Amino acid sequence: MNFLSDFSFFSDLQAWIFESIVQPLIFQVGLGEFVEDAFHGVEWFLMGVAELLLLFVVLRPLEALIPVHKISDPYARWNDFMYTALHRLGIFSVVIFLLLDPFLDSLTALLHLQGMNPFNLDNLWSAMQGHPVLVFLLYLLVLDFFDYGYHRAEHQFTWWWALHSLHHSQRNMNLWSDNRNHLLDDVLRDIYMGLIAIAIGVQPGQYIMLVVVSRMLQSLQHANVRIHFGVVGERLLVSPRYHRTHHAIGLGHETHGKGSIGGHNFAVLFPVWDILFGTALFSKTYFLTGIRDQLPFPDGCSREYGQGFWSQQWLGLRRLLGFDKEQNK
Ligand SMILES: [Zn+2]
Ligand SMILES: [Zn+2]
Repeated sequence: MNFLSDFSFFSDLQAWIFESIVQPLIFQVGLGEFVEDAFHGVEWFLMGVAELLLLFVVLRPLEALIPVHKISDPYARWNDFMYTALHRLGIFSVVIFLLLDPFLDSLTALLHLQGMNPFNLDNLWSAMQGHPVLVFLLYLLVLDFFDYGYHRAEHQFTWWWALHSLHHSQRNMNLWSDNRNHLLDDVLRDIYMGLIAIAIGVQPGQYIMLVVVSRMLQSLQHANVRIHFGVVGERLLVSPRYHRTHHAIGLGHETHGKGSIGGHNFAVLFPVWDILFGTALFSKTYFLTGIRDQLPFPDGCSREYGQGFWSQQWLGLRRLLGFDKEQNK
């Protein structure tokens, strides 16, 4: 099912871009066997463009109107925008796809053996059939549970934190910061979430909407805006204030001692997981964000996470391989 087929303007645009640009190009470079996937790729691209426009139109004025802090480094926001464009306009997905498609195909076939999918949530409760909104929300909730687990693991394991700390090193958090991640971590997460989605029976047409809804909410959470959802709402959906607490220097995300996991508010969309696993912190403060070791130590040393895309990626690799210990005081 093609989600965009429900909206004629979008599906017309998708068909036009595909027929006049993508299809000829695909055949030109001899990748004809990917022609159907390329059609879906155009759908992801258009959804990404619509997202970027909507985020810019809605969140950018709000950041100007009710900011938590003054942006001290405008380049930081521009750099984060590059991450978002790279990730959401499909360039990133194309690379992942070309690398993983054969593997995912055989796995999907294995799980859907003989037309059966034992984990298909849609089939679990026959009462839910005919209620697509409920099914959608259930999928969103289940995927979010696995996302919570992934996020905690990013903080729990030293090598994973070496990658994820790039996300936390933004001290000028803004509407584009959600995608400021190490590419290796992005690859892992996209594979992991894709596999979970396949395992629980999400259809491709549903998956794109689940991903888009989740991404939009996560962009809102990172925006530099004084927004919270009130006592009740804050417990139902992750707000900008709630996620900012997760990014708070020295409080929200750092491990405290060997073997223990410190930090709060790991939930990606629904705080229920933090409440259940004892990691929720409902603070009324809008904290400043960053990582403790970015602040200068008495000896003047501090850890460098990089200013631009390439240096951030490179330093992340060095942390992963344990080569930047000299800064880790
Ligand atoms: Zn974040
Ligand atoms: Zn985190």
